[in-house]
Amino acid sequence: MLETENLGKTYPTGDEALRDVSVRIDGREVVAMIGPSGAGKSTFVRCINRLVEPTTGSIRLDDTELTALDDDELRDARRNIGMVFQEYNLVERLTVMENVLSGRLGYVSNWAALRRNFPPEDVERAYELLELVGLNGMEDKRVDELSGGQRQRVGIARAVVQEPKILLADEPTSSLDPETSRDVMELLTDIADDRDVPVLINIHEVDLAEAYADRILGLHAGELVFDGSASNLTDESKGVIYRGE
Ligand code: ADP
Ligand code: ADP
Repeated sequence: MLETENLGKTYPTGDEALRDVSVRIDGREVVAMIGPSGAGKSTFVRCINRLVEPTTGSIRLDDTELTALDDDELRDARRNIGMVFQEYNLVERLTVMENVLSGRLGYVSNWAALRRNFPPEDVERAYELLELVGLNGMEDKRVDELSGGQRQRVGIARAVVQEPKILLADEPTSSLDPETSRDVMELLTDIADDRDVPVLINIHEVDLAEAYADRILGLHAGELVFDGSASNLTDESKGVIYRGE
């Protein structure tokens, strides 16, 4: 369960990127966050994984208050947050398996640790995940030999191998063609079901959000102006989310 209460972020530049955003995301819900460029979507995600320090409000992940952690606690808490990125953020010269296993290290950039032996159960879990994301047999390929869609599947497997309490995807389809984008959205919804984990996806393609998400959050200028099911996202609500565009 992820719950933000009155989450706000004003950057030192004075840009108010988020204002009083309160949402609760539970279970195996697939939630798409939409809104025009600059609405605050990536700021929201970055506040949750604490790459950005919120100015106001609170963020709870199950029983942990994420805004009140010291560095050690933050490192542990981040293991519970799976991140999928627009540009995949993989290590190009490493193999698929090495990239997936790196998820077990959390976000400590200790690549030397990759070279030590991983426990067999981690390797076992990584194989299972490669199968789940449709990359079985590709464990020894170097990432720089893969297509964009395959890279994103590696990115998803890496995020899930750490058994997160929530999966966050920041524009996961923006670098992909439309067909591959649909495949990736479908995979994210499968992961939510298979792993019983909520998935929050930042996305600017409204049609993909409507087709794959259970629920849609609409941001406009840092404010949550829509929170409802995809079927309730009317042309009028789209007009509110994208007003001025
Ligand atoms: P989105 O992901 O919806 O495009 P962002 O979260 O990237 O929106 O940006 C929201 C607002 O915050 C924008 O006005 C943007 O210019 C501003 N912003 C984002 N990152 C920074 C930053 N590091 N410093 C200052 N302003 C920022
Ligand atoms: P996106 O819309 O996909 O978030 P942006 O082009 O808005 O991408 O942001 C790219 C990078 O620049 C991000 O790291 C963001 O935090 C930073 N950024 C965005 N707006 C500003 C700003 N006004 N001042 C400083 N940094 C910014």
